[in-house]
Amino acid sequence: MECSKCRSEAVITQSYSGLSLCMRHLISDIESKAKKEIRKKGGLASSERIYLKGGDDYRLYALRIFVSALFLKRTDIIFVTSEDEATTVFSSETLDDAACGLLDAVLKGRTADYLEAKKKRVIAPLSVIPAEEVYLYAKAHGWKGDGVSSSSTKEFLDAFSKGRPGTKYALKNTADFLEDI
Ligand SMILES: [Zn+2]
Repeated sequence: MECSKCRSEAVITQSYSGLSLCMRHLISDIESKAKKEIRKKGGLASSERIYLKGGDDYRLYALRIFVSALFLKRTDIIFVTSEDEATTVFSSETLDDAACGLLDAVLKGRTADYLEAKKKRVIAPLSVIPAEEVYLYAKAHGWKGDGVSSSSTKEFLDAFSKGRPGTKYALKNTADFLEDI
C-alpha cells in the first residue's frame, strides 16, 4: 500500500485517521502529536529539570529518542537521573497504557486515584500515540528488543476498537479530564 502523503510504501494504516503512512511520515506524525501533547500539558519553562520515567522497554527507548531530538537546542533544560530532583516527570505511557489504565481503574472501582493531587507534574508525550506506532518508532531508531505486550484489557480494547477507532482516545481524554478536576 502507498503512503497517503507520498508515494513510498506504507508501514501502517491508522484506522482512526484513515491514513496510510510510510516510516518517514509516521515519524513526523508521531513527533508532531507528541509535541502538541507537551504544549497541551503546559509546555516546558526555562530551567526545568526533567526525569524520564519508564521500564527498560521500547516505550522508554522511543521517549528518549523523541525527547533528545526535541530538546537538542534547549540548553536551559536539564535531565536528571532521579525523580526527586525533577520539576517535571516525562512518563513513557502510550495511548494503550492510558486507555487500559482508565478502564482497569473503572473495573476495579479505583477511579478516585485520578482525582488525587499529584506530587509532581507528569507529562506523557507518547500517550496520544497507539503502542504499535510507538514500537515502530523505536524500531526505526534501532530498538532490537521486545515489542508490544498484551493484557486481557488491551485485547478487549483492541477488539472493541475495530469498529470504533476513537475508543482509546475517548478513554485517554476521560482520564485527562478526571486528572484536571
Ligand atoms: Zn510518506
